[in-house]
Amino acid sequence: MALSPEESFKRVISHAKEYGFVFQSSEIYDGLSAVYDYGQNGVLLKNNIKSFWWKSMVQLNENVVGLDSAIFMHPTVWKASGHVDAFNDPLIDNKDSKKRYRADVLLEDHAEKLRQKANKEVEKAAQRFGDSFDADLFRSTNPRVAGYLAKADEIMARFVAAMEEEDLEAVRQIILDENITCPVSGSANWTEVRQFNLMFATKMGSVAEGASDLYLRPETAQGIFVNFLNVFKTGRMKVPFGIAQIGKAFRNEIVARQFIFRMREFEQMEMQFFVKPGTEMEWYAHWKEARMRWHMALGFDARHYRFHDHDKLAHYANAAADIEFQFPFGFKEIEGIHSRTDFDLRRHEEFSGKKQQVFDPETQENYTPYVVETSIGLDRMFLSLLSLSIEEETLEDGSQRTVLRLPHALAPTQAAILPLMKKDGLPEFARSLHTDLKFDFQVAYDEKDAIGKRYRRHDAIGTPLCITVDHQSLEDGTVTLRDRDTMEQKRVHRDEVFDIVRTTASLEVLLKKI
Ligand code: ATP
Repeated sequence: MALSPEESFKRVISHAKEYGFVFQSSEIYDGLSAVYDYGQNGVLLKNNIKSFWWKSMVQLNENVVGLDSAIFMHPTVWKASGHVDAFNDPLIDNKDSKKRYRADVLLEDHAEKLRQKANKEVEKAAQRFGDSFDADLFRSTNPRVAGYLAKADEIMARFVAAMEEEDLEAVRQIILDENITCPVSGSANWTEVRQFNLMFATKMGSVAEGASDLYLRPETAQGIFVNFLNVFKTGRMKVPFGIAQIGKAFRNEIVARQFIFRMREFEQMEMQFFVKPGTEMEWYAHWKEARMRWHMALGFDARHYRFHDHDKLAHYANAAADIEFQFPFGFKEIEGIHSRTDFDLRRHEEFSGKKQQVFDPETQENYTPYVVETSIGLDRMFLSLLSLSIEEETLEDGSQRTVLRLPHALAPTQAAILPLMKKDGLPEFARSLHTDLKFDFQVAYDEKDAIGKRYRRHDAIGTPLCITVDHQSLEDGTVTLRDRDTMEQKRVHRDEVFDIVRTTASLEVLLKKI
C-alpha cells in the first residue's frame, strides 16, 4: 500500500537512524536541535556524493579549480557581502501555538496551494475533453483557474513589493488578508513580523575585551571571492574560469523542523564562475543546464526535479533559479543557480581598498568579472537520495524486503564479500578476493548470520553487488554474484569480479552520463 507523504518521510528518518546513516547530534544528552551526525554508512554515502560533485566540476572541466578556505574569516568580509545588514529572515509567531514561522515561507506555501488547485482543475478538464484539450488556453480563459493563478501571482507581487520597501507591517497584512492560519493551532492570531539575523557570532582571542567578534560563515562562497585574485594569478587562469569548494556553513535557522533539510550546521558545494560582463546570461543558461544534467545522470525519474525561477531577485542578482526536488513534504530547493553580477568583487574592492580586477588583452582594459554561481546543499542532496531510494518490496514468496536503490557508485559499499560458511577455507578465499578489490572500492567482508539475512542487510544499505564464496569456488575459482535490484544470481570467475565492479559501480560510470 502506498504510504502518505508523512509516513514516507518518517520511514526515511527511521531508516537513516536504524542503518547508521544519520544520528541526532549529542543524542545521549537529548540531542541538539537541527544538528546531525553522519554514521558509518552516512559518511560513506556523503563522501561519494562529494566526489561525484567535485569530479564533475574540477576533474571534468579544464577551467574549474578547487579551493578549501577557512570557516573563520575577517569580520569585514560579512559587512562587504551584505550579511551583517541583510542576512535576515522575516519571522512571525502564532500567539496560540507559540510556533514560529518564516513569513515568506507561509506566503510561498499559500501561493503554491493556489497553483496546485489550478493544476487540479486543468487535469480534471483534460480528462473531460480528451485529445482536443488545449491546457494553456484553458488556463487563461477558465475564470476559476485564471482566478487561482492571478491570486497566487498577486500575493507574491505584494510580498516582493513589501520586502523591497522593508515594510514588515505590509507583509503581516498579506497574511491577515489571505486568512493564512497556523497549521498547528488553526488560528490567525499572529504577532508582528520581525527581522532575524541568521549568522552565529563567536569571539577570537583569549581575553574577552581584546577579542574580536567573528561569525561562523553562513556560506562558503565568500571564501572563494576573497581568494579570487590569488587563484587567478597563481593558477595562471584566464576568464572564464571557476573555483569550486565544499565546506561547512552555519545558519541560526528559525524554523528547523525537517530533519537534515534545514540544519543549523550543514555543508555546501559551491562553484563561482567568473565571466566577462555581458556574457553572464550565456553562462547562466549553460550552468543551469549542466547542473540539471548532473542530477539526471543519477537515473531517477525527471518528474522529481524542476526549475523554479525566482519571483524576487536578491539585490545582487540579475537572474536566479532553483532546482527544486520533490521531497516527501513537497517540492523544495535543493540547489541555487545565480547570476550575481560583479556585486561581490566590487564590494570586496570597496571594503578592502584592493582592486579586484583582471586585464582584458583584447580591449587593453581592466574590468571586474561577473559571477555565475551554482550552490547545492550536500545534506539536502543526501536526503533526496534517501527518499528516492528506499523501497519496501513484497517478494514472490510473500516475504518483505527493504531495499535502498541508491545509484551504484554512490552506495556506501560497492560490494560485499560473503563466505557461505566460516570453515573449509571459504573465509580465506573470500578474504583474498576482498584484498583484490579493497584498494579501489569500498568493499565489506561479512561472515556473520545466515546468507539470506546478510543479503537483506546489504539490500537495506544499498550495496549493489553481493559476492558469495562457496565450496565450488575452491574447486573452479567461480563465485556467485547477486544483483541488489533484480536479486538475480550468476556464477562468474573471480578474475572477472574486479572488472564487473568497475563497470557497474565506479564513479566513472556516473561521470560519463553527465
Ligand atoms: P532556503 O530558502 O531553503 O533557506 P536558501 O535560498 O537560503 O535556502 P542558499 O543560500 O541559496 O539557500 O544556499 C544554497 C544551498 O544550500 C541551498 O540550495 C540548500 O541546498 C543549502 N542550504 C541552505 N540552507 C540550508 C540549511 N539550513 N540546511 C541544509 N542545507 C541548506
